[in-house]
Amino acid sequence: MIVDVHTHPHRRSVKITQGHYGKYNLETELLPDGTFQEGFVEEFLNGMAMVDKAIVLAVAAPPYWITANNEFVSALAKRCPDKVIGFASVNPNSPTAVPDLERAVRTLGLRGVKLSPIYQNFEPDSRAVYPLYEKIRELGVPIIWHQGTSLMARFGPLEAAHPVRLDRVLRDFPEIKMILSHLCYPWATEAIVMARKHPQLYVDVSAMVERPWFVYNAIVAAMEYGVTDKLLFASDYPWYTPDETRDALYALIEIPKGTGLPRLSMDVLEGIVNRDVLGILGI
Ligand SMILES: [Zn+2]
Repeated sequence: MIVDVHTHPHRRSVKITQGHYGKYNLETELLPDGTFQEGFVEEFLNGMAMVDKAIVLAVAAPPYWITANNEFVSALAKRCPDKVIGFASVNPNSPTAVPDLERAVRTLGLRGVKLSPIYQNFEPDSRAVYPLYEKIRELGVPIIWHQGTSLMARFGPLEAAHPVRLDRVLRDFPEIKMILSHLCYPWATEAIVMARKHPQLYVDVSAMVERPWFVYNAIVAAMEYGVTDKLLFASDYPWYTPDETRDALYALIEIPKGTGLPRLSMDVLEGIVNRDVLGILGI
């Protein structure tokens, strides 16, 4: 089974016509009667044709156009129950973060939570966030983190987006499965070191299509640290499709040819694409 662990529900055609920074109100895609605008679901399913399951992320970060609310993601998951697994997002700075998450999981049926210090402007190792982590542990859902930099979050705290800032959270909540997205660009070695240290931590390779040298080095580091089994397949759709991501991943095998650089094995690359993500996350 192939699982794309990092997708957004936005239309790819908007990304193509407006670029990475286009303005687009996702909520207009969901009509008052609970159905979607014509072509919306078909376009998403078309983009996801290569994968068996797509984890679709809500993002509670209102200043950015990647924002998607929990109700929207829940509606898409209900419309496409065979394909879509919805993850919630709540703002840790909000006084209602804990009940918001409880409702998203128990009532809306979402099966994980996305958090991002750089987009949501919070300190992940602050005690103020611990009640939210306690609720996440109680609900038994995984966390997917946008750690690393962002091209959009000009005023977000980059220092809070470093993977090592999660070390204390991982030590205090060893029961919570977590994924670091985008290989924590540009801190891939640190992400790999963290995955080696923490049994419950995984790293996704999303948004890597245009960075072959970076991803090649990250996979070499994962081989050296013996954690290639913790790399998860992910596209960051609509910015890239799963097909583009798989092709770019397999093309990495060419990089060391004719050089003395470390070779990648096709088994490792295919292992990333075919990982049993649902079993790993227990969802
Ligand atoms: Zn993303």
